[in-house]
Amino acid sequence: MPRILLVEDNEMNRDMLSRRLQRRGYEVLIAVDGQLGVEMAQAELPDLILMDMSLPTIDGWEATRALKAAAATKDIPVIALTAHAMSTDRDKAIEAGCDDYDTKPIELSRLLGKMETLLGQSGGSAGPTQ
Ligand code: MN
Repeated sequence: MPRILLVEDNEMNRDMLSRRLQRRGYEVLIAVDGQLGVEMAQAELPDLILMDMSLPTIDGWEATRALKAAAATKDIPVIALTAHAMSTDRDKAIEAGCDDYDTKPIELSRLLGKMETLLGQSGGSAGPTQ
């Protein structure tokens, strides 16, 4: 079962999304700020990271840059999550090394599609078991 690291500082968003992913069969790890997200990714090497961009300590762009600069974590797909649908935000996320991008409020089927595409490409577990 794929292990997803969710980096999100908003408790309500975090609880809702993690519960919905768990119901789909994903194992969900949680980090509540950017620095903890980087540390958790290094320690746990998840299959995919969902990265909120607006985060305390270090923001999602900086956290992604740090992960993509390190050999151990550079191949973990990162999907940026932001409240802004502006194309500059998307460009900024891709520039920071994010593999894909989605906007809040989360539309679960759309996000799952992006997650499954990236999980399939990474060659590991291809999808949830249930
Ligand atoms: Mn946030």
